[in-house]
Amino acid sequence: MIDRSEILGWLVETDPARLEELWRRADAVRRASVGDAVHLRGLVEISNHCVRRCGYCGIGVEHAGLARYRMEADEILACARQAASFGYGTVVLQSGEDYGIGREWLAGLVRAIKAETGLAVTLSLGERPEADLAAWRRAGADRYLLRFETSDPALYRRIHPDLPGRVSDRLALLRRLRELGYEIGSGVMIGIPGQTWDSLADDILTFAGLDLDMIGVGPFIPHPATALGRGELPPAPRERQVPNSELQTYKVVALARLACPHANIPSTTALATLNLASGRELGLARGANVVMPNLTPTKYRALYEIYPGKACLREAASECEACLRERIVRMGRELGTGPGARRR
Ligand code: SF4
Repeated sequence: MIDRSEILGWLVETDPARLEELWRRADAVRRASVGDAVHLRGLVEISNHCVRRCGYCGIGVEHAGLARYRMEADEILACARQAASFGYGTVVLQSGEDYGIGREWLAGLVRAIKAETGLAVTLSLGERPEADLAAWRRAGADRYLLRFETSDPALYRRIHPDLPGRVSDRLALLRRLRELGYEIGSGVMIGIPGQTWDSLADDILTFAGLDLDMIGVGPFIPHPATALGRGELPPAPRERQVPNSELQTYKVVALARLACPHANIPSTTALATLNLASGRELGLARGANVVMPNLTPTKYRALYEIYPGKACLREAASECEACLRERIVRMGRELGTGPGARRR
């Protein structure tokens, strides 16, 4: 385990030689805890409708000019079949908070995917009511991803306006998801204006406190069509503000591994966006053990632009598969097989 003062020390460290020690420790803990396998989770962005107005997100309800789509069940099933044919163990169904995705419709889709492919099913569909979450779990969904983005309640409220009549409490919802029997995944953005070193250290301790099964972190990259993209949120004083840099993101990946040795930690598309040549590899070398190749049909991909410049918008699923497979093998790591559940 790692304590708060040590986390804080690494967060502000800038000496590359000292940071080599952090990368080495995170890689050693990764190898000892989850092994050399890199699990591939096929991502399908099933709808870009969303009722929320998160202050940084390009598919929030206020982005009026955006064409909206919601994939048909047959299209999603075809993506799941493709995931199985590529040898992936998991399909991840992700969308905005879209109430056009009905409880029974999605439960039927989960049952069909499980029956036909046997894949693990991960859902990432926002803060849905408990009855929906319970029905999808009964239908066979295995995991649920819901990033809490920051553990600082005041900062959270500044960038995530509540829906009328509902108060968001993502930490409570994650605990409830666990009680429902899901593996739970969460994570944060790094470098939100107003995010301080102390609050980021608290975020990492919160990963451990929740005993997360999956941890996804990425740099804050606001979409230009949003309030935060227009710079409407003031930063913290310079010496306290966390930068939204690639280096800072690797540090949080590494510290998440030290805080939660057995969690599944992806090297995210956001890292590839900051460094297309080697961002994914550096994430995998500094604590991560998962990648999420995109299976979303290319005609929809550009419409799921949560942040600008997202990597791999135009590549077909087969190109993503071949590219990632080659990168993993070149690193001397193994391709994971099976569902890649969290080890206990
Ligand atoms: S971050 Fe998620 S919930 Fe918020 S607006 Fe974007 S898609 Fe909707």
